[in-house]
Amino acid sequence: MSGKSYNPFEMAQAQFDKVADILELDNGTRELLRTPMREYHFSIPVRMDDGTVKVFKGFRCQHNDARGPNKGGIRFHPHETADTVRALSMWMTWKCSVVDIPLGGGKGGVICDPHNLSAKEQEQICRGWIRQVHKDVGPLRDVPAPDVMTNGQHMLWMLDEYEAINGAHFPGLITGKPLGMGGSLGRTEATGYGVIYTVREALKLHGLKPENTVAAVQGFGNVAQYAIKLFCELGGKVICVSCWDHKDNVSYTYKKAAGINADELMGITDRFGGIDKSKAKEFGYEILPGDAWIEQDVDILIPAAIENQIRIDNVDKIKPRVKIIAEGANGPTTPEADAKLHERGIFVVPDFLANAGGVTCSYFEQVQCNMNYFWSKDEVLTKLDKQMTQAFHAVADLAKKRNLYMRDAAYVIAVNRVVEACKARGWV
Ligand code: GLU
Repeated sequence: MSGKSYNPFEMAQAQFDKVADILELDNGTRELLRTPMREYHFSIPVRMDDGTVKVFKGFRCQHNDARGPNKGGIRFHPHETADTVRALSMWMTWKCSVVDIPLGGGKGGVICDPHNLSAKEQEQICRGWIRQVHKDVGPLRDVPAPDVMTNGQHMLWMLDEYEAINGAHFPGLITGKPLGMGGSLGRTEATGYGVIYTVREALKLHGLKPENTVAAVQGFGNVAQYAIKLFCELGGKVICVSCWDHKDNVSYTYKKAAGINADELMGITDRFGGIDKSKAKEFGYEILPGDAWIEQDVDILIPAAIENQIRIDNVDKIKPRVKIIAEGANGPTTPEADAKLHERGIFVVPDFLANAGGVTCSYFEQVQCNMNYFWSKDEVLTKLDKQMTQAFHAVADLAKKRNLYMRDAAYVIAVNRVVEACKARGWV
């Protein structure tokens, strides 16, 4: 990874500044929106299984809540930094806004590697995280959710701690909860499916049918798995997927020219999205270097792993055949690489639009929790499809009308709505 000078917060600010110019925002509004309104940094002491105490560093950033309570996931990652969380909280504000749900932007994190932590140790991190910020989160303040390397179990431990502290049930505290414990049907599929709803619409704009297209995917976590499933259900073919190998500390690309099978791979994948190499070989997968996904001769690229993956040093490896890039991950493309994609006329469905299905379904989960009445999976996914499709077309129409790059058009819509909310409240 050529990430020496990579700073996601600077990247999020650069993207914002560009749109602030397009929107001719005044200085006060710019200043308000280019930094989180609040952030919390804290220590979480944990009694490890071997009896020693280890202190983990935790974060929560609340970027802007003019449109509603802050919303966003909590990441467990060994390379988590304050700036990553800041950037991600900012992207959450734009994400909720572009799909027009009444929520603001937040993000949290803990510097830790769940690969090396027992369930008990992870539970203590979750409970400790809530103990540190329980006064500053809540159904009407800031609503966390799963993200990189966190899942429904982590959310439930956090909810349980919050309810123990506050002495009542607050299912609206957190989303991504397990089914039967306030979770919504469809939440597991939502982000990946949402990516493909936008790909489906983008293909229509290009006059292409999924059955005549081929995709390459980076990542094999929750987002990628369900994106691959739905794309194949629509008739498309995915020829490779790249993912991290925890044992070798490197990533590999698993390729099958005839088309990979998500279910087959999910059967040999650990809970972090790592694929068993030897079993993959038995199933006939070719194992290539980690970055091989980007240089495949395909129509669609779906980076659905982490940030900083399409960079100036590898962007030229993208084959001329690639027409669409749908960003399943948050911040996978650096601004320099993005300029190249723009120049080449590649149709990019930007991260905060492409992967907004997760938070949209989180919003549905909140609504269902508030009513204490839960919808069928079909109902959830139909509503999700409608919301994502509408948002996609609003962005694509604006891009066409004003001759804007898709990312800029998405930003114009999202930032504008937040600016209007800040103005209406009399903040700026
Ligand atoms: N972590 C997901 C995201 O980045 C979902 C956030 C949420 O559901 O609040 O969009």
